[in-house]
Amino acid sequence: MNEFKKLRLERQKNFDIYTKEQTTFNFNGKNKQVYNNCNLSIFVDDYCNADCKFCVAQLRYENKNQIYQKKKIMDDETYLKRLDEVLTILEPLNLSVSITGGEPTKSKRLVGILKLIEKHKMRKRTITTNGSGLLDKVDGTTILDHLIENHFDHLNISKTHYDETINKKIMCYKKGYCSNEDLKEIIPYALSHNLRPRLSCLLLKSGISTIDDMANYIEYYEKLRIDNVIFRQLMDYDEQNMCNVEKMKYCMENKVDLNEIWKKVDQDKRFQRYKNILGYYYYVEIYNYHNVVVCSESADLKTLYQEKEKNPDVVYEMVFHPNGNLNGSWVDNEDILLEYQES
Ligand code: SF4
Repeated sequence: MNEFKKLRLERQKNFDIYTKEQTTFNFNGKNKQVYNNCNLSIFVDDYCNADCKFCVAQLRYENKNQIYQKKKIMDDETYLKRLDEVLTILEPLNLSVSITGGEPTKSKRLVGILKLIEKHKMRKRTITTNGSGLLDKVDGTTILDHLIENHFDHLNISKTHYDETINKKIMCYKKGYCSNEDLKEIIPYALSHNLRPRLSCLLLKSGISTIDDMANYIEYYEKLRIDNVIFRQLMDYDEQNMCNVEKMKYCMENKVDLNEIWKKVDQDKRFQRYKNILGYYYYVEIYNYHNVVVCSESADLKTLYQEKEKNPDVVYEMVFHPNGNLNGSWVDNEDILLEYQES
């Protein structure tokens, strides 16, 4: 095992949630300890106009031997009423919030969700998107402007390569696309309205896979005024329970080992090491490259479940699912904190 991997595993082993501040909170009569850095993710819908073979939203289900097909509240008004109810209950926790999916910009519920986040004055607001719906209009206003009007702070855009042909091939778009030409419009506009864009790139052998590829990616988007990039390693998962053989094969063939990249990055003068962050199932090294902040992250779903089993009363993160449940898990039938009862 290389030294970097050993160091990271040891750090992961030493992660102790009880050294972090927590708040006791009552969920339907049951007290739980909520980690103070806890984030609420609103998983808008499983629909996506891309079809990435590595999709993490799907992986979270498939590595638990479950099919990724989420139940949902069918009526928009009922869904938004339920979200309003849950956000009201959670208000004392002053949570940060992330909107995710599927592709959230393609959901007709998105604008209603943004308005509720504004109504409940939620702290630090982020959306993660493949960018393809940002210039779509709802009620005569672009989604980008709806995000700005509702005071979003961060805009995470997933792009696996700066070369359009390679990116399209990897992300297998069915319809709609966010091109680099679109980004030339989106990035400066967002920046001038206090919405900070970040490019998110999954490291893949068929895409960005070496330190020079990373440098080229950073430099390409730096010219478009991006000052913030994240590179992710394909998530480690539970192979024993994985039910999607095709995905498993794809992941095995395409995985780029960040431990190897980190070894090289630490010796490359272009990257200035800044700091690292140890989370409950992820590890992040942060560097500066010119004026760009570069995060690099590895995560392990097995560690996530081990950590949660060790401390069942701790809430590490919360996810509001399309079925109206609030869970301490990305899987909508696990660790239910507030269950939706149809009236
Ligand atoms: S764009 Fe995101 S949500 Fe859509 S298929 Fe790709 S990884 Fe999954």
